[in-house]
Amino acid sequence: MYLDNSATTKPCDKAIENINNVLLNNWGNPSSLHTLGMYAENEMNDSRKVIASLIGAVPQEIFFTSGATEANNISILCSAKKLKKQGKRIVTSAIEHHSVLDTVKSLEAEGFEVVYIKPDSDGNISEEALSRAITPDTVLVSLMLVNNEVGSVLPVSKAKAIMKNVCPRAILHCDAVQAVGKMPINVNSLGVDLLTASAHKLHGPKGIGFLYKNKNLHLPPLTFGGGQEKDMRPGTESVPLISGFKGAVQSIGNINANLEYLNQLHAFAVEKLSELEFVSINSPENCCPYILNISVNGFRSETLLHFLESKNIFVSSGSACAKGKGSYVLAAMGKSADIIDSALRISFCKHNKEEDILLLCDALKEAVGRLKKR
Ligand code: PMP
Repeated sequence: MYLDNSATTKPCDKAIENINNVLLNNWGNPSSLHTLGMYAENEMNDSRKVIASLIGAVPQEIFFTSGATEANNISILCSAKKLKKQGKRIVTSAIEHHSVLDTVKSLEAEGFEVVYIKPDSDGNISEEALSRAITPDTVLVSLMLVNNEVGSVLPVSKAKAIMKNVCPRAILHCDAVQAVGKMPINVNSLGVDLLTASAHKLHGPKGIGFLYKNKNLHLPPLTFGGGQEKDMRPGTESVPLISGFKGAVQSIGNINANLEYLNQLHAFAVEKLSELEFVSINSPENCCPYILNISVNGFRSETLLHFLESKNIFVSSGSACAKGKGSYVLAAMGKSADIIDSALRISFCKHNKEEDILLLCDALKEAVGRLKKR
């Protein structure tokens, strides 16, 4: 029973079929001038079109990368390279993924001032907090759309509205890894200049993601090579993975119907888990329903995780990228050490069912009865 879909998702049949097909039958280099190159290029262009339409972009605004870590690095470092003469203030949140946090941190050494907005105790970031942080000398705002540990939805379009009045030349970047393919997204209504995503979070392969860059935004490149991806990400494109990404996007189905189903599943999980007196819910009420963070009071996350694993139930003790460390997201929310040490992240996909949640509840009851308290 897989309840760790925010770490990664099971690749869907269409993604696997596309990858196999390209490796076997369409293995040319898309930059080659002969027909094999042309076939590979056609497949890549078609994939770009399908992926662009998922977020309301046009194909020339999509740049394939090795994943969201690389896309976030490119977004932030290229923006800083462009804007460093204009100003040095970067605004972000304290609950971003490390591919954002550590990248902006690296810029502090170059003289940038970084403001990390703290969430409230629910994990939400208020419009007031954004207004206080975004000042006329701000050059870059980086906000994730959905937090990967607790599922809070950050007010990205509100940030754009504030920026329009306060710092209209600043760039807005959004790490949308936990939202793309799960919630309806339109880059234009969101108002973002840059947005990133990763295929393996939506039943696609690992090692492929994209950077959306608004066609009116020009950024200097960070790396140099054969000019692929219009110089934003040189290097021979991974057509098999790109095609696998396309297959995953084509298999999403109806995003709104999936979201409705997940809303019901999430509400059911909150109801059933809240009936267990030893469980507290850490996710905010209005969170993205694909994620539910809980604490099993008195028991260590890792001990619980391995107990659940022995029952074939797979969850996470936080973010998969922060293996073994206490959650900085829950810490930023002001949660106690007890809550942080006993946190579990349950993350769903459209294939999970109510029965999974009932089995999880039974397993947690058994764990609390059998395991030693911390
Ligand atoms: N941002 C967020 C919010 C994530 O959850 C992840 C994956 N854990 C990443 C970025 C990094 O994505 P990738 O694995 O594609 O590098």
